[in-house]
Amino acid sequence: MRYLAMLLALCAASMGVMGQEKSPAMPPKDLPKLESFSTGNVDAGVNPCDDFFAYADGKWIAAHPIPADQVTWGVESPLELWNETVLVKTLEQTSAADAKRTPNEQKVGDYYFACMDTKNINAQAAEWLKPELERIAGITSKREIAEEVAHLHQTIPGAEMGGDNQTNAALLGYSGQPDFADASHNVASIDQGGMGLPGKSFYLDQDDKSKEIRGKYVQHVAKIFVLAGGKPEQAKSDAGTVLAIETELAKAAMDPVARRDPNKVNNPMTLAEVKALTPSFDWDGYLKAVKSPATGKYIVSAPEFFKNLETMLKAHSLEEWKTYLRWQMLHGNANGLSEAFVNESFDFYGRTLVGAEELEPRWRRCVRAVDGNLGEALGEVYVKRAFPAENKVRVVRIVKDIEASLAKDIEAADWMAPETKKQAELKLSTVLNKIGYPDNWRDYSGVAVGRTSYLQDRQGAAGFEFERWVNKIGQPLDRTEWTMTPPTINAYEDPQNNTINFPAGILQPPYFELSQDAAVNYGAIGAVIGHETIHGFDDQGRKFDAKGDLRDWWTENDAKEYESRGKCISDEYTQLIPEAGPDVKQNGLMTQGEDTADNGGLHLALLALQMELEREGKSLNEKSADGFTTLQRFFLAYAFSWCEQYRQELIRTLVLTNPHTYPKYRVNNVVANFPEFREAFGCKEGQKMVRTRYCRIW
Ligand SMILES: [Zn+2]
Repeated sequence: MRYLAMLLALCAASMGVMGQEKSPAMPPKDLPKLESFSTGNVDAGVNPCDDFFAYADGKWIAAHPIPADQVTWGVESPLELWNETVLVKTLEQTSAADAKRTPNEQKVGDYYFACMDTKNINAQAAEWLKPELERIAGITSKREIAEEVAHLHQTIPGAEMGGDNQTNAALLGYSGQPDFADASHNVASIDQGGMGLPGKSFYLDQDDKSKEIRGKYVQHVAKIFVLAGGKPEQAKSDAGTVLAIETELAKAAMDPVARRDPNKVNNPMTLAEVKALTPSFDWDGYLKAVKSPATGKYIVSAPEFFKNLETMLKAHSLEEWKTYLRWQMLHGNANGLSEAFVNESFDFYGRTLVGAEELEPRWRRCVRAVDGNLGEALGEVYVKRAFPAENKVRVVRIVKDIEASLAKDIEAADWMAPETKKQAELKLSTVLNKIGYPDNWRDYSGVAVGRTSYLQDRQGAAGFEFERWVNKIGQPLDRTEWTMTPPTINAYEDPQNNTINFPAGILQPPYFELSQDAAVNYGAIGAVIGHETIHGFDDQGRKFDAKGDLRDWWTENDAKEYESRGKCISDEYTQLIPEAGPDVKQNGLMTQGEDTADNGGLHLALLALQMELEREGKSLNEKSADGFTTLQRFFLAYAFSWCEQYRQELIRTLVLTNPHTYPKYRVNNVVANFPEFREAFGCKEGQKMVRTRYCRIW
């Protein structure tokens, strides 16, 4: 498995349009107005020292309820639509039958065309599905399961990712990844996978809500079987088989907190050792089918999972395994099939799990499908339109200020020994900063895309991506590669590459705006850049060195000091989340890395702002025309960048499975750890935003 520490819980989350009930049914003609930071959003009726989120964001949120087809709603919503509108304008041109096109334009244009052609999809989907169903029906022995798993991995998007969350990787995830011991080259990675619910706890928790969700899941699986031609009674019993098999997988799966520790998932094995875990699975057949390059090392994230799989392969009949494979195939392909499949899939994954009321318009889903599957063939256009060179220059300066701030912070840390500081400084000085877009665009010449079969296009793009990851095995690490596309509103840090990455999609208002003052840009995008920078030094990132190797470079005492500071944060964030429903509690050990990055990131942003103000001959206490000081505006801009609300179902699902804290607490818990916040707003002891003990690592 790979560790990518992201900014947001949701990658390419579905968002809506300002001031409208829901997304426009057709692509808008004009680009929507973006949301800019303004202190006009402040709610003077709330005391900032009691609830800073309500003070900074409450008014905006109250005025903008979540539209029916959305599950999150916030200041990034207009930006999401803006980004998609830029993309759809290109796609509308390149998808025209008579368009003169470059090879990449042909691919993205036809992919979009095929995706939008629901008439054809509805008419043809059953036919497209036939060979897939026949493959599985034709399996005559348990040894052949491996070959079908390989086929599913090669045809379903996202199969290179295993994981603890709901995945599209039947049974397991297979991919190349940097060797934990020596990140300069890639080895094979075998991860747990194959569960259709969002996480282990969804199968095992015994509270009423969990049982209700499982009941609906079984109904959903049965309905999908019926859509694929099954008889209702048989489908019902088959759905029970699927839940039974996936529950056994979930029981043996490593839990998400344990998976955060790279030492626990680093289990290097030879192929013989892998085979000994699960002798009944035809590993040779699988590796041959996915054309895996030879390697001496396979990193198995969760050996217990694969030992248990052996027991399961023996215990369940071949027919039961074929039922599981049929579900995995239908589930993974559902969004490429007829509207009946798409709607049924939405009913469970959209409505039940995340609380959406309506499906988004097709054009938005298709734009995101092109971005998700052929993203770098489409991203160049976005960069040209949305990210001028002067913006990059300004962002680079903020990144430099943030890094200089962390260097100062490390130097000043009274709890770190000089030898640990030296290693930390070396690591910081070798971070590769990637801003906006890749220097070398991916070559998609190996992907064939046509206009007549959306399912085939989708499977072809999935196969290309899967093969790209598998082909890394045995190859040197390429630090310049991106795992997010340019229009993505998100950012990530990769500890094995020692890189921080900021797609052009997030370098936009309200996160970054050239016309805003430093207080606003450092409070918003500065905190994002600080967040990613700190990930290299959070409880997970600190275990990797400057080269990206998993190596302990801490003195024993410094590690202890670090852990006690970390415990302050994880204790603080182990809290009930009433927005998620009654008795839903966040596990601060699961969110510790993200919370460390939020707290440290804002601290770095504040130090960096002071550097910038010194250069400008200004101070934090100067008042601007709106009556707020620079320091107040800094905290307000930070809070505004997290001005978001989610549906209750989504919050619950995320609290149980995702390492990110709900935005409201990303604001309130963080500012309460800042003595500077207390000063800025004149807060007093006893008020909610004033903690008796400040948590702070960086
Ligand atoms: Zn993060």
